[in-house]
Amino acid sequence: MTPLDAQKLAVHASRALAAGGHQDMVWGHAAVRDPQGRGIWIKAPGWGLEEVDETRLQLVSFDAEVLVGTGVPHKECHIHLQVLLARPELVCSVHTHARNAVAFGALDVPLLALSHEGALFGGDDVPRFRETGALISTPGLGKALAATLADAPAALIPKHGLLAAGRSVGAAVMHAVLLERACQIQLAALAAGPVRAASDPDEARAKRAECWPESQLEAGWRYLLRRAGAVRS
Ligand SMILES: [Zn+2]
Repeated sequence: MTPLDAQKLAVHASRALAAGGHQDMVWGHAAVRDPQGRGIWIKAPGWGLEEVDETRLQLVSFDAEVLVGTGVPHKECHIHLQVLLARPELVCSVHTHARNAVAFGALDVPLLALSHEGALFGGDDVPRFRETGALISTPGLGKALAATLADAPAALIPKHGLLAAGRSVGAAVMHAVLLERACQIQLAALAAGPVRAASDPDEARAKRAECWPESQLEAGWRYLLRRAGAVRS
């Protein structure tokens, strides 16, 4: 990957997240690791996910300095900086204020494998960051959030939003989209009545392997890019 590839992927990630229902006006962001190790490519503050293009990006160093682009970085850039510092194998991290994730987080009940999306965690509950519901605006909070994520595909940040990460940009975006959809489905089920049918841990683990291999994450990511108008095939 070249820095130009990383910039393009940062644009694509932002637009795919918007197509996947993660818009929150100008808040929320995806970060792609700079292949030269200088930091992260991330959208500049003030733009919606669907408005991002190559001219609305910043390269932000691991010390939170803007190296390319103008203005200050997002206050919550520390989320991505610390997650990608803690996990060298990850290429991309996503933080959004997806509505269903926020609503589901408020219930503080375990996430169940009610659907294919819910099986993403293989029968485990989704990790939750409990240190604060306020902005993740310091390196210390970013580190604590990275520790909460550990090696899970995504985590809830109750009273705030979600974090997702991946070894590819497509995987990180899809992990965010799948968590949001799993939360939406469980909210709908809980609102309609008691939940009586969910995968047990064995079935959830099997479904995770069957439904969400890299090839399926890639297929979902390509679909989101087409929906966003970012690619044609
Ligand atoms: Zn936030």
